[in-house]
Amino acid sequence: MSNTEDTEKETESYLESFKYAGKRLEAEERKDSFGKLMREIVDSGVCTKCSACVATCDVLIWDPITDRPKLSGKCTGCGICYNQCPRTITTIPGLIGEYKAAFTAKATNTEIKGQDGGVVTALLLYGLDSKLFDGVIVTLKSKEEPWKPIPKYVTSKEELLESSGSIYCHSQTVIPLIDSLRKGAHSIGFVGTPCNIDSVDKMQKSPFGLLKLFMRANIFKIGLFCMDSFSYEGLSGFLADNNSSWNNVQKCSISKGKFIFHLKNGEEIVRKVHALNRYKSSSCYYCTDLTSEHSDISVGSVGSADGYSTVLIRTGLGWELFQDAIDNGYIEAKPLERGKLRFVLNLAKMKKQSLYTIKSRRKFVYQAPQEVVERPKYEPATKDDIIKAAARKMVKLVKTDLDNKFIRFIVTNSSGETLDNVKVHIASVQDFFEVASWETNIKVWYPFEELEFEYPRTKDDTEYLIQLNDYKGLVLSRVANIQKILEKKQAKK
Ligand SMILES: Cc1cc2nc3c(=O)[nH]c(=O)nc-3n(C[C@H](O)[C@H](O)[C@H](O)COP(=O)(O)OP(=O)(O)OC[C@H]3O[C@@H](n4cnc5c(N)ncnc54)[C@H](O)[C@@H]3O)c2cc1C
Ligand code: SF4
Ligand code: SF4
Ligand code: SF4
Repeated sequence: MSNTEDTEKETESYLESFKYAGKRLEAEERKDSFGKLMREIVDSGVCTKCSACVATCDVLIWDPITDRPKLSGKCTGCGICYNQCPRTITTIPGLIGEYKAAFTAKATNTEIKGQDGGVVTALLLYGLDSKLFDGVIVTLKSKEEPWKPIPKYVTSKEELLESSGSIYCHSQTVIPLIDSLRKGAHSIGFVGTPCNIDSVDKMQKSPFGLLKLFMRANIFKIGLFCMDSFSYEGLSGFLADNNSSWNNVQKCSISKGKFIFHLKNGEEIVRKVHALNRYKSSSCYYCTDLTSEHSDISVGSVGSADGYSTVLIRTGLGWELFQDAIDNGYIEAKPLERGKLRFVLNLAKMKKQSLYTIKSRRKFVYQAPQEVVERPKYEPATKDDIIKAAARKMVKLVKTDLDNKFIRFIVTNSSGETLDNVKVHIASVQDFFEVASWETNIKVWYPFEELEFEYPRTKDDTEYLIQLNDYKGLVLSRVANIQKILEKKQAKK
């Protein structure tokens, strides 16, 4: 056989495997394009320059100028490169941890008014009724300050029933846990968010962990799914700004990216979760565990119909307790369909991605006072300046947004290096004149860190200018037109 034939055969068999992988990804609806790989891994600075993506696909080359992978042909968006990259998280255990079985389930006892299927409360009730637990750690709502989380060791059915439902704020659940052990409890059912579960797990497994050394403690960990939690005070302020208060709130829920305050009068205050980011706990920006990977049983809402909970059984003990609760009529359950599990995986992926963009999540917000600097004549950058700045690709305008009071610019340092002494100039521009302008100096700007500038809007505003300069000159110059932003916002709605 000639050499040419050999090469052709090799190429053909490689292409067959490439197609096969593409078909599998298509069937699983996991077609993550090269654009996604660029956004998540390359642009965020996580790329190790290993070249696995380039090596596997014929339309990718290594760009020697930018030292990054680059498209040289048409991308079909098959997702193969994304799935070879060592930095993306794509396996099921990588996304939601190890588990033995997945169910969709609900409590049978109608006294249980759960957040979703009431499965957590039903499991705890079974544990208490059967004397497997001395008591359980749950989070109640404060009577003095409505909706403030009060973590508590409870032993009665009455208090347990009161504890059902979710409070989207941190709860210090470990205090009553250790307190109850100190007072003589030995076997405890513990409910917590993934970060709560991690505390207990660490204390159980680290060589000097007190729950490892205090061998009388048996703790059964029921972990909740969790995407974010918020500051109680922050949300109180938000409610006040919306002419309401915690006293009016019947239930809180998070669904399809929206935070919903269900009010006692039947009305709802609904906001995109994203819009409440300023009240989000700082820890949640750095958290990558959606499903309480270190628990015995994990329970959440995503993946199940209204009124049901999604349950992941992780340990042998978790399996036995869940089955016993079913056999004894506390819970009804059926296996979670593969397609529904995909919803859990997708959400978990969103959370894991915070690993890739961890630096850009360190966002600093600058609130600009009006009219600090007088710069009477609007001096737009020359075309040459703009081309040069773009070629240096040092700074990117990530987003421009506005409300009635403020215009917001979010910029990121995309140079891959720390920038020093960057001068930021923002101005409201009317008829080529700056009517109000403001300047600040960013002493140190880390790679991929985002800066948000919140600039008070001027009366009858039409355009705003944002310019950034480093010691070499202009690195960004953009004009934001109010009319166009409003039209874009309207179109999105
Ligand atoms: C902060 C937070 C964020 C969440 N985010 C998501 C999400 O993004 N996606 C998703 O699918 N599910 C999420 N959940 C889980 C979901 O809201 C339900 O708790 C879960 O589906 C169990 O429902 P259930 O009806 O079986 O539980 P229930 O029977 O109603 O029992 C809920 C249990 O949670 C305990 N609890 C309530 N608030 C807290 C708290 N702040 N800290 C510790 N324990 C608490 C209660 O004491 C009770 O024992 C979140 C829960 C919380 C607390
Ligand atoms: S065609 Fe190539 S670059 Fe595009 S997604 Fe598939 S493997 Fe990646
Ligand atoms: S496979 Fe991932 S880490 Fe390797 S070069 Fe491509 S993007 Fe970078
Ligand atoms: S997102 Fe993470 S850190 Fe924040 S409350 Fe949930 S588990 Fe805890």
